[in-house]
Amino acid sequence: MLITALATGPLAANCYVLAPAPGGDCVLVDPGQDATEQVGKALAEHDLTPTAVLLTHGHFDHVWSAAELADRAGLPVHLHAADRRLLTEPAAGVDPGFAAQLSALLGPGPFREPEDLVEVDGGDTLTLAGLEFTVEHTPGHTPGSVVYRLASSGQSPVMLAGDLVFAGSIGRTDFPGGDPAAMNASLASAVLARSDDTRILPGHGPATTVGRERAANPYLRALTG
Ligand SMILES: [Zn+2]
Ligand SMILES: [Zn+2]
Repeated sequence: MLITALATGPLAANCYVLAPAPGGDCVLVDPGQDATEQVGKALAEHDLTPTAVLLTHGHFDHVWSAAELADRAGLPVHLHAADRRLLTEPAAGVDPGFAAQLSALLGPGPFREPEDLVEVDGGDTLTLAGLEFTVEHTPGHTPGSVVYRLASSGQSPVMLAGDLVFAGSIGRTDFPGGDPAAMNASLASAVLARSDDTRILPGHGPATTVGRERAANPYLRALTG
């Protein structure tokens, strides 16, 4: 499988380009601010054609370029219903002070829904670009946060974790819609219950594994006591 990670925007939200192999279809995950040019280069480099967009949650730094990229190419955009409102009301996802600080940096933004929005929920399976994804609802960081899992035969399982878990840290729960108790439940079911070889592709920062985070992530160690 081909996995390309691109850091987008001032908050360095990771956009992923996933494909079974070069020279075919691919899926775009969380195309953030100013992702269009970087994604275009990655597609050209590997001769890839996007067929769908997956969003791990509705925060503006992850969804910024989704509508632009998707509508231009006629792609469906997948998102949990509970975060749908954030596509058009990005400030609803952060506290007012933070929103004010960011407004100068971010400008007005292209905050609209894509033409083809597909609502996903836990338990859904999606076959996109020849890849099979399973959706797991993991609220806590936002009400509509999800993890997309990929089981590729003969390889370690891969999870697109969004802002659930990072290398050495976890997503914030102090924004509007955040829920620390739900976050702990999501971390237990979506991370701690998974095999150590599961590769974690997080919404910010470097890739990691369940085993590494189980051993060294202080937030997960606190949960396991
Ligand atoms: Zn977020
Ligand atoms: Zn984020």
